[in-house]
Amino acid sequence: MAQCSGTTKKGDQCKRDAQDGADYCAIHQDQEVRKRQPREESEWDNDAILKAVIGFAIIGLFFMFRRR
Ligand SMILES: [Zn+2]
Repeated sequence: MAQCSGTTKKGDQCKRDAQDGADYCAIHQDQEVRKRQPREESEWDNDAILKAVIGFAIIGLFFMFRRR
């Protein structure tokens, strides 16, 4: 089994074994996901968009219930 390619909070390479078919252990799986996303596409902050959509949905529901 290969060594995990993730980095610990201290900045050292993780010493755990990588999962089967992956370069990272279970703890550092999220680092692999981040690496795959190109930086150009992160111009739109998906988290901010999601929060805005949820906010508008809540406001929409609020007005829908007030009209009744
Ligand atoms: Zn790891």
